Amino acid sequence: RELIDALHQGDPTGARKGPVGSERMILLAELREALLVEDQLVLAMQPAVELSTGAPIGAEALVRWHHPSRGLLAPDAFIEVVEHSDLVGPFSRYILDLALRIVSDWARGGLIMPVAVNLSARNLLEPELPQMVAAALARYGVPADRLVLEITETVMMDESPVIEEVLIGLRALGVRIAVDDFGTGYSSLTLLTRFQVDEVKVDRAFVSQMGHSPEAMAIVKTTVDLGRALGLRVVAEGVETAEQRATLIGMGCTAAQGYHFSPPLFPDKANAALVGLARAAEM
Ligand code: C2E
Ligand code: MG
Ligand code: MG
Ligand code: MG
Repeated sequence: RELIDALHQGDPTGARKGPVGSERMILLAELREALLVEDQLVLAMQPAVELSTGAPIGAEALVRWHHPSRGLLAPDAFIEVVEHSDLVGPFSRYILDLALRIVSDWARGGLIMPVAVNLSARNLLEPELPQMVAAALARYGVPADRLVLEITETVMMDESPVIEEVLIGLRALGVRIAVDDFGTGYSSLTLLTRFQVDEVKVDRAFVSQMGHSPEAMAIVKTTVDLGRALGLRVVAEGVETAEQRATLIGMGCTAAQGYHFSPPLFPDKANAALVGLARAAEM
């Protein structure tokens, strides 16, 4: 089972990343606690932009953990532990609440901006997910079309009929679905047509290698073309340079995210950055 999980995560050695044994147990106990108190799990928000103008089109919620003794932790330090535990459901619910609270605050302050929330593969095996999402949207008064849920390719490889039902249910609400880290899994292009999705995010690994690797270049170009043919928005992740931006525009890619535009920022700063990007695009 562990090996299968590891393989599904694209780790051919079968070795798990992150902490082991008793360290995992401690982390899990601390995470359980973090879900019960305020302000330990927080979100950094990274703007996504229209490539040609730089105008913001949304923001992605990226979790950070103010750990009581270890300082600020990035998701790499704990997400994998969450995903192999019974916290996977409660954790995603908690993150969704945080994200929707932020967008509803922004809207009250005059900034209407969609938010993208990362889901774990196992969340999609939960038949109640659409209901849960609908309830959260209602709780914060956020319209469904202001929420994007990011899933990974591995989700789409699962044979479970539940996943298809859940995705249909989510889209019926008006929520948009994005495929994250596209190109890194074992997915085939046909999976994109089998499941109705709205957006594809090209993994940062390919974007960063475009200048050095013809293969990476070809993968990005193919994804952009495919997305266009299927009527999907293609978002290039991890854009760090003006050169990458120009290359992507040349390929016909329309949207991006990355340090070149803005790093992930805590909500107030992200709000200011989004407003700044919108102003700059108008000039
Ligand atoms: P992701 O969803 O693919 O998010 C993009 C990651 O790339 C983020 O790392 C972001 O900070 C980083 N990034 C953005 N622009 C650039 C750039 O220009 N250059 C470089 N080098 N990196 C850039 P982060 O925040 O450490 O998150 C890592 C992963 O953890 C995310 O990858 C996502 O898969 C997962 N994650 C984050 N938040 C959540 C969450 O709330 N729930 C779940 N299930 N997973 C999450
Ligand atoms: Mg993501
Ligand atoms: Mg990801
Ligand atoms: Mg990604």
